[in-house]
Amino acid sequence: MTDEMVRAENVHKSFGSLEVLKGIDLVVRPGEVCCVLGPSGSGKSTFLRCINHLEKINAGRIFVDGDLIGYRERGGKLHELKEKEVAAQRRAIGMVFQRFNLFPHMTVLQNVMEAPCRVKRENKNEVRDRAAALLDRVGLADKIDGYPSQLSGGQQQRVAIARALAMRPKLMLFDEPTSALDPELVGEVLDVMKDLARDGMTMVVVTHEIGFAREVGDSLIFMDGGVVVEQGPPREVIGNPQQERTQAFLSKVL
Ligand code: ADP
Ligand code: MG
Repeated sequence: MTDEMVRAENVHKSFGSLEVLKGIDLVVRPGEVCCVLGPSGSGKSTFLRCINHLEKINAGRIFVDGDLIGYRERGGKLHELKEKEVAAQRRAIGMVFQRFNLFPHMTVLQNVMEAPCRVKRENKNEVRDRAAALLDRVGLADKIDGYPSQLSGGQQQRVAIARALAMRPKLMLFDEPTSALDPELVGEVLDVMKDLARDGMTMVVVTHEIGFAREVGDSLIFMDGGVVVEQGPPREVIGNPQQERTQAFLSKVL
């Protein structure tokens, strides 16, 4: 393990002529929670997707736990990794989306067991034990034989978190994990994330939950227009934003 779980250097990403990321730099150390704030369209999701190579970047470099993502450096040149090698890198990174996308025809337990059994071909009994323990941890021990449609949005999102954890990721990416939830269900998902953070998981969390960012975040970046406008300890950035754009955004969400 390096002392940097995520390192982004001058990351650029365009879709056609639209430049969405205009040189993002970021370091997240092991065990840290980095919260990402910013208005809609500022490139937050795109940046997360670049970290686990769901999007290819146009320039710059991203490392996860010291590994260059998507490329190999040889003789000063970057060569794209093969699909299999990218898949291996991706397995170490868990991602949780706004929409939970559980498999509707599988039970809760099967949903959590699916990736380790199919992708990693792990021993089924071991995976079952681990999946059950994870579901217990997210407070859903009594739901393991239920189906996603029988669960509330908050419960489904907790299953999605357990499902990501079942792959034993070293890094978890959250893209607005509570934005699709009814307000009364937000807390139970944030509590699970808090518990994960306390347990030492490295997390990058795109969220509009300012309270969570202030309480749980070790660092905060504010993005707008594809650049990091401001960053620092969450309490400082939220309590005393230095940039006009940060002030304007916070005054709307606080
Ligand atoms: P955020 O998550 O901060 O709301 P996004 O990263 O989703 O922002 O999007 C940033 C910009 O990139 C938006 O203008 C969006 O329309 C554009 N964008 C995102 N994904 C694609 C894509 N696959 N093709 C074209 N444009 C995209
Ligand atoms: Mg987004």
